[in-house]
Amino acid sequence: DEHQVLQFQITLYGDDERLLMARDITRLHRLEEMRRDFVANVSHELRTPLTVLAGYLETYATYAEQLPPRLAGGLARMQEQTQRMQNLVNDLLLLSRLEIDQGGDDHCALEMTSILEEVRQDAEALSAGRHRIAIEVDENRWLLGSDPEVHSALSNLASNAVRYSAEGCHITLRWKPHVKGACLEVEDDGEGIDPAHIPRLTERFYRVDKGRSSETGGTGLGLAIVKHVLLRHDAHLEIESLPGRGALFRCVFPASRLVTHPGIEQATG
Ligand code: ADP
Repeated sequence: DEHQVLQFQITLYGDDERLLMARDITRLHRLEEMRRDFVANVSHELRTPLTVLAGYLETYATYAEQLPPRLAGGLARMQEQTQRMQNLVNDLLLLSRLEIDQGGDDHCALEMTSILEEVRQDAEALSAGRHRIAIEVDENRWLLGSDPEVHSALSNLASNAVRYSAEGCHITLRWKPHVKGACLEVEDDGEGIDPAHIPRLTERFYRVDKGRSSETGGTGLGLAIVKHVLLRHDAHLEIESLPGRGALFRCVFPASRLVTHPGIEQATG
């Protein structure tokens, strides 16, 4: 009555010997499903109380001037921390939804210039004028994908670029051709990453500098979200970086994901 999940592994020995191993991973698979459902349920249940809390804090904040400075400071801290919890819960919920359902229902042709422009404006707001943020578009095909998912992947990369690069740094968002199809790139000339950390960056809550990251306002789930969004678009993430030399995050989409939109003239020459 339960679906059985098997994992096969073939090992080659010399020229003519093969070892076939089959493992029953049904229980492991079921446990993984339970973990995902649990995280999704808990984060969903935490949303309402946090919304109530944030609502009351906002009301109290309108009276902050009448409070002694120490209490007013405490109120501001409570608002910050509530916001942080809300971000975390929202990211956890988004991530478990990305893992649970197959996706694909809301896929349509996406015009990337406007998505890049929206994300640039959000990044601009986060940067508050401290960075120079530009857009480059050399690819005029549209991407077949989910608008909210592509949007959230790109904005996670852009907000990381802002948070991990100092004042005066440059950030570029690109949509350009790639040998496999096309790619979305987010490049910054900020603090960069030691190559030893790169393979693990997309793990949940993996951080290069544990102390610093929570200061920067991230949830530790940004790159895990990016990875899952890309998986659902037959795409993958490439990361190139050196400490002190900035970072380049490249999302590579296969040609099968690109469409020439009927209303759009293809560039010639
Ligand atoms: P968060 O930023 O919330 O910690 P992410 O999953 O978005 O979580 O990123 C994981 C880690 O990767 C970050 O903690 C940071 O150490 C590193 N990182 C991500 N983007 C950049 C970047 N553009 N420059 C330098 N380091 C980065």
